[in-house]
Amino acid sequence: MNELNLKNKVAVITGGAGIICSEMARSLAAQGVKTVILDLNKEAAIKVADQIEKEFKTPSIGLSANVLDKASIEAAKKEIINKFGTINILVNGAGGNSPAATTKVDKIEGNEKPEDTFFGLQIEGFDKVFDLNFKGTLLPSMVFGAEMVSKKSGVIINISSMNSYRPLTRIAAYSAAKAAVNNFTQWLAVHFSKTGVRVNAIAPGFLLTNQNRFLLTDEKTGEMTARGKKIINSTPMERYCVPEELTGTLLYLVSDLSKAVTGIIIPVDGGFSAYSGV
Ligand code: NAD
Repeated sequence: MNELNLKNKVAVITGGAGIICSEMARSLAAQGVKTVILDLNKEAAIKVADQIEKEFKTPSIGLSANVLDKASIEAAKKEIINKFGTINILVNGAGGNSPAATTKVDKIEGNEKPEDTFFGLQIEGFDKVFDLNFKGTLLPSMVFGAEMVSKKSGVIINISSMNSYRPLTRIAAYSAAKAAVNNFTQWLAVHFSKTGVRVNAIAPGFLLTNQNRFLLTDEKTGEMTARGKKIINSTPMERYCVPEELTGTLLYLVSDLSKAVTGIIIPVDGGFSAYSGV
């Protein structure tokens, strides 16, 4: 017997062509889950879906949708229902930071240029980061959550971050937006608590990926930046996590192993959130 009992369930993974979420999709497909790779980048989504079908022999489709555009998510939902009949799992993975919402310095010491500090942050950058991380979680939950509530069963997994608990320097918008994702996870879990739909989140620690590479490694030399070194020194395991290390928590949260679990955010962080630095 397959103890996770996920075979033939249907999972929609937003941002599914990305580094973390393509790995999450693969881990679901390995359990016999039919996967929908939903991404702004259609070509990349189709490529991931094709690879999954080949490797795991489970149906997978790549669809283009914008998590900030309800009509485009509704259109994707129609296609998914036509193809797979239902939606059991939603992973809200589309998210990320923007250099326009990132200060150049950690703290105001007194002699830096104002544009390198809080005062140089662009409101358009804030809008972009808040929209992508928060509204980009809210809207798919609304569209796909409606299908789950109508079937009285389903699981939503939001992707948060370490900076949701305590903000990291420089990334003001991203930290606040991920804190909003945690808060919304709890809110929606309570709101759905009698519907058969559970809502939880995973807060990954530090991975070296596209969104943070410009902060953690020197573009020219490839060496770790001072910030990269700080992260490793603040992570008791003294290393970055890799996407595969998030999948065990994902499988736990989407399966009946966590049947009574809703409204929690699980850190997968090499000990970062437990460590005081001393
Ligand atoms: P990534 O950039 O590799 O993937 C993000 C994917 O989202 C891309 O394929 C992109 O095309 C897609 N996307 C962007 N905007 C979209 C939109 N409007 N609609 C649909 N799709 C859109 O990112 P990643 O590093 O794999 O991160 C995945 C998630 O994990 C994000 O929510 C991120 O904030 C979170 N996270 C990442 C890290 C890290 O260290 N990389 C740490 C903690 C949390």
